[in-house]
Amino acid sequence: MVSMGDNKTESAKMKKVCTKCQKELPMTVEFFSRDRRLKSGLRSICKSCIKKWRVEYLKKPEVKERRREYYIENREQIIKNKKQYRNRIKAQKMKVETEKLHEQYWEAYSRWKAAHKEYIQFLVSTAKPVQSTESYKGE
Ligand SMILES: [Zn+2]
Repeated sequence: MVSMGDNKTESAKMKKVCTKCQKELPMTVEFFSRDRRLKSGLRSICKSCIKKWRVEYLKKPEVKERRREYYIENREQIIKNKKQYRNRIKAQKMKVETEKLHEQYWEAYSRWKAAHKEYIQFLVSTAKPVQSTESYKGE
């Protein structure tokens, strides 16, 4: 005999019912946001419900007012945060640029080196350490 219970647990594993819209949706992060505090690891409300709720929430006049007040009160900090973020991005970009330049330089240098082997050999031979004047005096 086939037990009905097994089928039930199998389907329960794959699907999750949103507690808000009551829709049965696949139990994946595509449809439900992750929430580590929950046993299932996923929120009980589906993503589209959360999105809808957020849009409605932000439309509320009192929320708008609160956000405006928050902005006025924390203006300095918000601007500072944005600036810091921008600077971080800029620094990252600059690092990439510098690395690129460095690479280009070494590429050009190695090409130059390959083309002027004799010249380099000459330079190396003339750059040999000269005996110090002190030992000259001694002799
Ligand atoms: Zn929903």
